[in-house]
Amino acid sequence: MPKNVSEIFGAMVFNDNVMRERLPREVYKSLTKTIANGRTIDPSIADVVANAMKDWAVEKGATHYTHWFQPLTGVTAEKHDAFIAPVGNSQVVMEFSGKELIRGESDASSFPSGGLRATFEARGYTAWDPASYAFVKDNTLYIPTAFCSYTGEALDSKTPLLRSMDALNTQALRILRLFGDTQTRRVDITVGAEQEYFIIDKAMYDRRKDLVYAGRTLFGAPAPKGQELEDHYFGPLKTRIAAFMSDLDKALWTMGVNAKTKHNEAAPAQHELAPIYATANIAVDQNLLTMEYMKKIAEDHGLVCLLHEKPYKGVNGSGKHNNWSLSASGKNLLDPGKTPEENIKFLLFLAAIVKAVDDYQDLMRLSVAHAGNDHRLGAGEAPPAIISIFVGEELDSLINSIVDGTSYHGAKAPMMDLGIPTVPVFRKDTTDRNRTSPFAFTGNKFEFRMLGSSQNIALPNTVLNTAVADALRSFANRLENTEDFDKEVAALIKDTFSAHRRILFDGNGYSDDWEKEAARRGLSNLRTSVDAYKAFMTEKNVALFSSLGVMSETEMRSREEIYFENYAKIINIEALTMIVMATRDYIPAVESYVAQIAETAAKKKAVVKSISCRVEEDLICRLSDLNARAYDAAERLRIAETESAAIESARERAESYCNRVLPIMEELRAAVDEMETLTASKCWPVPTYGDMMFRV
Ligand code: ADP
Ligand code: MG
Repeated sequence: MPKNVSEIFGAMVFNDNVMRERLPREVYKSLTKTIANGRTIDPSIADVVANAMKDWAVEKGATHYTHWFQPLTGVTAEKHDAFIAPVGNSQVVMEFSGKELIRGESDASSFPSGGLRATFEARGYTAWDPASYAFVKDNTLYIPTAFCSYTGEALDSKTPLLRSMDALNTQALRILRLFGDTQTRRVDITVGAEQEYFIIDKAMYDRRKDLVYAGRTLFGAPAPKGQELEDHYFGPLKTRIAAFMSDLDKALWTMGVNAKTKHNEAAPAQHELAPIYATANIAVDQNLLTMEYMKKIAEDHGLVCLLHEKPYKGVNGSGKHNNWSLSASGKNLLDPGKTPEENIKFLLFLAAIVKAVDDYQDLMRLSVAHAGNDHRLGAGEAPPAIISIFVGEELDSLINSIVDGTSYHGAKAPMMDLGIPTVPVFRKDTTDRNRTSPFAFTGNKFEFRMLGSSQNIALPNTVLNTAVADALRSFANRLENTEDFDKEVAALIKDTFSAHRRILFDGNGYSDDWEKEAARRGLSNLRTSVDAYKAFMTEKNVALFSSLGVMSETEMRSREEIYFENYAKIINIEALTMIVMATRDYIPAVESYVAQIAETAAKKKAVVKSISCRVEEDLICRLSDLNARAYDAAERLRIAETESAAIESARERAESYCNRVLPIMEELRAAVDEMETLTASKCWPVPTYGDMMFRV
């Protein structure tokens, strides 16, 4: 370990310090202004910046540069170019121009475009995002970029995110101006993503085709022990895990990622890492880097990091808590202060968020919808598929008093006295936590908890930013034309809370009662990803994104196509993997075990003719029945998969995978899992749940 984290922190990042040191004063000033105000870069300084970046990167060992981008595959993409340029007699120099920094051109035809572009219109462009710092990794200078088609449509997750940040900034500034704030130049969106993950021994991982191909176990009987003793959460770290985490921290710090908190999670072999929050686009980039490093560093330790939402049935899955807030000139706009009832600006922003989430529940749900996350949401461990907001007791009673016009007596935070003389008495929080809420106010930020552990957090933040921008826009429209601002703003807050009170819920989000209650309140409940995708292209949603310049209808349509396509592809891979494992591993293994038992019985009888072979007979019958069930299910799965794959429309294909293929996968799994419980350990072809979760 380094003696001092500050010595290595950000060592591989072309950050503000490096820029100040390496760029001419005027260039540095122009670039930082561009970044701070979200403006376009002055092309005349690009060459200077590029050259300084290159010199710095070369000192760090870089020979190549890459435009790093986020295509709609969900993972990042990169193509490396060497800095070399030929000069004269078979010699080269290291060169990097402003043009190469600002813009990249590449063949985009192999990335998902959802029909945005035919393969012959292959050209795609990457454009530098100066607000996210470049960095050196594996001898390459990484330049964070946005990715679009030849015709300018966004082909990535980052472009709409940047546009949504801009939209929210514009509308939030309108509101701040109304409150007399003339100083703030930009409202920043701050995001901190808590990342959950599982760790498994590499040797075991390699023996599980389902983990290798699908990222989750598609078979596996529960181990005798799961998470019921609650002994893993915050438990002491095993030596091997601690060593991995320590190397991970070090690597992330070097890359300028503020990795802050780490601990064991609820399920065995499950862990969490939380960074200190950053501006949204940087937080997105850093979360992608974090996921990449988790995988890479795990391999160095003979481990594999599983980022899938549900690697194991029967224990908790992994999610990502997206902490989100707004900051103006370094001040958190969602900080209620000591007397929230007097903090009109806070209440107005709170009202905007409540309205935004209520108006666009379907989009919030959509933003976390993917095949893997369907195993978590609504499964009694993660928030339900229903969106609601938890604001805590104090704000809840404040909102009620506003709506009902009754007087409000602030909640005084009570003192906590443990009755131990040496332990100091301290002030409690005014509200307890609510772990079951999908969208919870946690003191001075909102925590969106429905995200899956594997997903890019760009989309949920894009949706949230855009929806809140929409609410603030309607507020600004109303308030800018009023004579009596104080009266109007009070009326607006009251109207908004009255109209959207139905979305507030502080009870147990995991209970069945809530599902009924939510239905009564008219809240949307989109159970599966496919349901959520179907709710995407409504008139209301198209109007939202296009009017705020975040996504055009064409861009949305292409994304809709990709959602359906991607879903179908994922289930298709899972189904094929199950067929392979069943027919080539499980069924033959059980067949040979049954043969062994039969042989044993025959041998016993050869010695003692009248001997009882009750155990052998029983096992042979039960296993043969189950094996036949598995065999039949695998056959039906094969047919259902082939027929589903042949469906022309992506939407209908996804529906068929969801409604027809998934249930057969369940049947196949049930038969195999039962066989596992009856088969001798030494005959079982793959590591069991117990092996995978408890032997790390
Ligand atoms: P918990 O969820 O257990 O309460 P913490 O209070 O430590 O965890 O915070 C979780 C995450 O919230 C961290 O990543 C933290 O940086 C982030 N966070 C804190 N303040 C803000 C903010 N103003 N905006 C965005 N994220 C924030
Ligand atoms: Mg949290």
